[in-house]
Amino acid sequence: WKAMNNKGLLLVFSGPSGVGKGTVLKEYLKKHPHTAFSVSATTRKPRAGEIHGQHYFFLSREEFELLVENGGLLEHAQFAGNCYGTPREAVEQNLEKGIDVVLEIEVQGALQVKQKCPDALLVFVMPPSFEELRRRLTDRGTEDGATVERRLANAAREMEAAKHYDYIVVNQTVEDAADQLEQIVCAAKHTAKYLREFIDEVEYDAETCCK
Ligand code: 5GP
Repeated sequence: WKAMNNKGLLLVFSGPSGVGKGTVLKEYLKKHPHTAFSVSATTRKPRAGEIHGQHYFFLSREEFELLVENGGLLEHAQFAGNCYGTPREAVEQNLEKGIDVVLEIEVQGALQVKQKCPDALLVFVMPPSFEELRRRLTDRGTEDGATVERRLANAAREMEAAKHYDYIVVNQTVEDAADQLEQIVCAAKHTAKYLREFIDEVEYDAETCCK
């Protein structure tokens, strides 16, 4: 049974910083290694251990602006003073080949994708509660109180966009959240809209058979 739409699914994954969306996605990708992770372009400087072409394409502001002018980005947005964007070509090529593509991007970019690609599946990761997010950010112990408060204020703003997404994953534990994501993707691939080509094919066979 190969009922899949010939095109891959475009999955847009967002959530406030500190919610652990990167970890959830990693867990999901371990189980679904054929899903392509879209490597974004950014003007932010690389952090220790980050590799050009693997984590991000690290560009100068001029290079980034040229990409925007040439229509090379599917979406782009500013976040904490830096520019981020999704290279269009790689996404389109993978989807055409039937490969699912996941974008891990912030909310403004996600809403642009929703407008341009109405078939995209938008999933937002929430903490079990706001207090839990505060606890996680504080327990990390890597930031001082003022920084934690600033990140929490950011998170509160980002979470306002959750209602515009298709599905919510609650990150109580990483395994649970990755399971929820798996089920959401599975459900999305079984909508009549996604399986339209399959339905048409069977319908056509039925018609020709019963003539
Ligand atoms: P960081 O600098 O911590 O890697 O990422 C900061 C924020 O930018 C995160 O919320 C991340 O999901 C988002 N981001 C990463 N790549 C892109 C992108 O291509 N487009 C948009 N709009 N946001 C992105």
